[in-house]
Amino acid sequence: MLELEERILRDGRVLEGDVLQVGSFLNQQIDTSFTIKMAREVHSLFSGSSVTKVLTIEASGIAFGFAVASLFGVPLLFAKKSKSLNVDGTVLSARIHSFTHGNDYQATVSAEYLSSEDRVLIVDDFLANGEALRGLIKIVDDAGASVVGAAIEIEKGFQGGGDRLRREGIRVESLAIIESMSESGITFRR
Ligand code: 5GP
Repeated sequence: MLELEERILRDGRVLEGDVLQVGSFLNQQIDTSFTIKMAREVHSLFSGSSVTKVLTIEASGIAFGFAVASLFGVPLLFAKKSKSLNVDGTVLSARIHSFTHGNDYQATVSAEYLSSEDRVLIVDDFLANGEALRGLIKIVDDAGASVVGAAIEIEKGFQGGGDRLRREGIRVESLAIIESMSESGITFRR
């Protein structure tokens, strides 16, 4: 999505450790109309996939997930990152290594919100090594539901997580794929 690439070039900041900061429009302050525009793109990509639920992970996937789910007219489900008193009964969980924090956490979803009938579209703000996506895929698999694919706002292609998942047969659609980035510039995959 050209407009997202332009926005990344204009407002993104490359930080140490291969981290792209896009807090001004995407994951701290959120440009709502642009987020809806990105969600429309995802909706047209997956319109034939009979999506019944959108799944993301707190916190930064929620805004995009909400916009995508509302266009499909289905619920947004988000995995919690910490043990929560709000998640009771049987839980589905996956251990995930956080790229940005460098630690492991347990992502959990109440089992009552996913059934074997569900066709799940997974969304997230970023895709780097693919750990978060793998954890969410495990949760869907454990529920006996189907993953129709994953929709990502920004994939850092040079970290390889997206391509590894594609090779395993997962449909991964990213609105912008960064091929390389450094303080001197950012290039995108064509
Ligand atoms: P992965 O699990 O694919 O290695 O990393 C994806 C997760 O890490 C996303 O949920 C996202 O929150 C976070 N993340 C990875 N790379 C970046 C980055 O460059 N910038 C920001 N803001 N978040 C990132």
